[in-house]
Amino acid sequence: MNAYTNPDLHCHSVVSDGTLTPEVLAERAKGGGVDLWALTDHDEVGGQQRALAAAKAQGLDYLSGVEISVTFADTTVHIVGLGFDPTDAQLVQGLADTRDGRGPRAREMAAQLAQAGIPGAYEGALKYVGNPALISRTHFARFLVDAGVCRDTQEVFRKYLTEGRPGFVPHRWARLGDAVRWITQAGGVAVVAHPARYHFSATEEYALFSEFKQHGGQGVEVVTGSHTAAEALRYADLAREFGLLASRGSDFHSPDESHIDLGRLPPLPADLTPVWSLLADRIH
Ligand code: AMP
Ligand code: MN
Ligand code: MN
Ligand code: MN
Repeated sequence: MNAYTNPDLHCHSVVSDGTLTPEVLAERAKGGGVDLWALTDHDEVGGQQRALAAAKAQGLDYLSGVEISVTFADTTVHIVGLGFDPTDAQLVQGLADTRDGRGPRAREMAAQLAQAGIPGAYEGALKYVGNPALISRTHFARFLVDAGVCRDTQEVFRKYLTEGRPGFVPHRWARLGDAVRWITQAGGVAVVAHPARYHFSATEEYALFSEFKQHGGQGVEVVTGSHTAAEALRYADLAREFGLLASRGSDFHSPDESHIDLGRLPPLPADLTPVWSLLADRIH
């Protein structure tokens, strides 16, 4: 059950803010040498059946996946769920509630951008949206690049859509305990996604991981496309300190935007217990 050498347990399809279909992603994962795959769309399990079927067609082992948006200490934190039952009623309802505010938020973002001299952003972003229930900042970023406002999406997130910049609308996502419970009660394992991205103080980070564990969370992403090598070492230490399982995933969104492709990550430190070792009976 620990025989996997190249799991990639974090990526996005057109069902959230990726640019590829679940079928093309499965093919790309296989081509990249991935031997265990999970599609983890934001706040949405609508792509899970397609991803599983596509994985099977590629001869690729599959774990169900999702990435839930959470607000903790006034900061957006992402919690990845792996190996749950994607038809679980509470999980499905919780995700629907979490997606709910995205439409009004997007209209406010567009209103702010219009005030900053960029009209038509809502309609512009919608052109990139594959799932009307899931309009995200990424879709606005693609619009701003194609409209010539910024060179690439990295520049967008430096100049727009983030705290203190035009187009940033504070939003209250799911509660940490709720997200962890939706995942665990559906039979899955909850994982703190890309922890180096949050810029918490040491005290806040300790609080995040303490509360996460108290709620039943069991894993942390150590090796991800969002971490430098130094950050991976740091969160390997944190996994040891908190007794957490380690996860690994590229967070691939698009061939044009993601710097790490599916299956191209360094391995997990050998002494850590990989999250998939606990999920052997959830692998399809
Ligand atoms: P949302 O859930 O609408 O707030 O959008 C969040 C998404 O925006 C993330 O999942 C990323 O795909 C993208 N994103 C956020 N910050 C950055 C960044 N600095 N660079 C590139 N993409 C980003
Ligand atoms: Mn994303
Ligand atoms: Mn994320
Ligand atoms: Mn992600």
